[in-house]
Amino acid sequence: IGVASVAGGVHSASLWWLPSVPILALILCGVRPGIVWAIVSCIAWVAFLVFSVSEVAIRNDISADDQPLIACAAACGIILCASTLTLVFKLGEAIARSELEAARDASDQANRAKGMFLANMSHELRTPMNAIIGMTDLILDSELRADHREYLKVVRGSSESLLVLIDDILDFSKIDSRRLELGQKRFDLRTALADTLMPLESRADSRGLRLSCDIQADVPTLVVGDQARLRQVLVNLVDNAIKFTPQGHIEVVVRSEEKTKDYVCLHFSVSDTGIGIPEDRRRAIFDVFEQADASSTRRFGGTGLGLAIASQLVQMMKGQLQVKSEERRGSTFYFSVVLKLPDDG
Ligand code: ADP
Repeated sequence: IGVASVAGGVHSASLWWLPSVPILALILCGVRPGIVWAIVSCIAWVAFLVFSVSEVAIRNDISADDQPLIACAAACGIILCASTLTLVFKLGEAIARSELEAARDASDQANRAKGMFLANMSHELRTPMNAIIGMTDLILDSELRADHREYLKVVRGSSESLLVLIDDILDFSKIDSRRLELGQKRFDLRTALADTLMPLESRADSRGLRLSCDIQADVPTLVVGDQARLRQVLVNLVDNAIKFTPQGHIEVVVRSEEKTKDYVCLHFSVSDTGIGIPEDRRRAIFDVFEQADASSTRRFGGTGLGLAIASQLVQMMKGQLQVKSEERRGSTFYFSVVLKLPDDG
């Protein structure tokens, strides 16, 4: 601006270079530097306009021969300034980005370390728990006073709850630290579902509930996938359905959503006629240690880890666990998973 003023003020030829700077910055460096330079150029235009309106005399004792040279120098000066400032701007951005990336890497590493620690710890805790349960069983098989037997049954029950919790934490930390891998084995889906639901059926029965399973005809019998993890998801959903349904029935439905030569997409749903889930809690229950209502642990037991694990497992099988629910009328948990079909299936 200074050079342009000396070289002829508002009428200077070098001023015609002003709009080129934002355009150049826009093309070479992107939108943000372009906008910054457009603002700077506008300020320059306004400055010259003010000079012109207020008739500020700009001393111009440069000879006519030197005018083109000065105008050229002014244009070069503007471009040099623009380039330098844009470079500084870009450099600042690059430094900020690399600092951000370093911070993210550090936090990822800390998270992985935490996950590994949890996975190792829960694994170490499992071993003595198995010994406690085993020894309690042995003592319970021996001659005991009635009150001692009752105390030991409490020990047995509590140890089992603790083992379930440790298993859940172990699973969750394995998933969290990306150490859990899904097996790829061929299995009979119908037999697997029957085996999974049989023990749950007697639990439902003992609470006066009816548990039914409908596997539709288009569902293939032989599939390839992780039978144990699919079972874990279903057990969690049906177990919850039994826990939160005071009366009525629970229905498991499996249907085929899409089928190619190599893959099948299966849709599973578990519906109950239970207490339902309030709308504002339907998303939260899939988070770790979240329950639909604060008194849930006291009334029904549980820790709020089951659905978080089930939903991560379903995601690993390329699906998404979702819920539809109506309070006091029941809930339906549903998900789709993609399973391979055996070559000779
Ligand atoms: P937990 O059952 O151990 O508390 P989950 O993660 O399996 O943990 O479930 C989280 C919460 O979601 C439960 O505490 C309960 O409040 C709610 N919930 C899950 N399934 C049902 C269901 N079928 N009917 C009503 N509420 C449910």
